[in-house]
Amino acid sequence: MHTVRIPKVINFGDGALGNTEYPKNALVVTTVPPELSDKWLAKMGIKDYMLYDKVKPEPAIEDVNAVISQFKDKNPSCLIGLGGGSSMDVVKYAAPELGKEKILIPTTFGTGAEMTTYCVLKFDGKKKLLHEDKFLADMAVVDSYFMDGTPEQVIKNSVCDACAQATEGHDSKLGNDLTRTLCKQAFDILYKAIINDKPAQYPYGSMLSGMGFGNCSTTLGHALSYVFSNEGVPHGYSLSSCTTVAHKHNKSIFYDRFKEITEKLGFDKLELKGDISEAADTVMTDRGHLDPNPIPISKQDVIKCLEDIKSGNL
Ligand SMILES: [Zn+2]
Repeated sequence: MHTVRIPKVINFGDGALGNTEYPKNALVVTTVPPELSDKWLAKMGIKDYMLYDKVKPEPAIEDVNAVISQFKDKNPSCLIGLGGGSSMDVVKYAAPELGKEKILIPTTFGTGAEMTTYCVLKFDGKKKLLHEDKFLADMAVVDSYFMDGTPEQVIKNSVCDACAQATEGHDSKLGNDLTRTLCKQAFDILYKAIINDKPAQYPYGSMLSGMGFGNCSTTLGHALSYVFSNEGVPHGYSLSSCTTVAHKHNKSIFYDRFKEITEKLGFDKLELKGDISEAADTVMTDRGHLDPNPIPISKQDVIKCLEDIKSGNL
């Protein structure tokens, strides 16, 4: 048997933000200042709501507890996470604690977090990846409206992440026919959108990618990328090289087209400051990504991949 979990309701496409009906007395949680949230809330057409805009980037469990203690007695009808990963992660955790439904509205795209049962929060200053069914949205609203004003570099990194997640997810050993269908469709849409300069399609492709990989896993490309993340390289940028060499190593059907989109997006070669053998040791501990890789991976394989990345031999 296979299980696939996605939000009960998904509103997407042109006008999704303004045409969705939001429950009265909802609590909107966001990270952004009033200048921006006022604009977004007006576009949503939401009335009769409460606002909490004190969420910090890379939130901690303390941020969740602040929301709960401040609004428990005000009895919101539901929680709306409006923003990037940070706002959504706080709502993912806080809503079930308050016994309320949650609506997730991503204003950045790429991670597909609005579709997944993952939640990232800091505990004692350390980031933890939590994975529970209760983190799933009751409703997700995906609208390309928010792409206006997003810096081009951020868009490039985000769409590269979405492509990496879709293609690694497709090849994951934890996948099934339905996740592979979603991942393949996600990459086909993103590939076409990138090659034909149609960025308005990116949020929809990312959403499909989230539905797919969120129900299986990413693999070697993501495992390799974290040594670069540790050196401060943006996630999507590190995947431009890491997922390409991973696909080459895995002989993935996506290798040529993935490489093509990274070239079209125009990423620079990655640098690795640390020692390759030590980096490979770190990668080898990431069983969550390596175990579902389509073929077994040895430390020697990882070293070869890291050398190829360093020399630009993709
Ligand atoms: Zn990713």
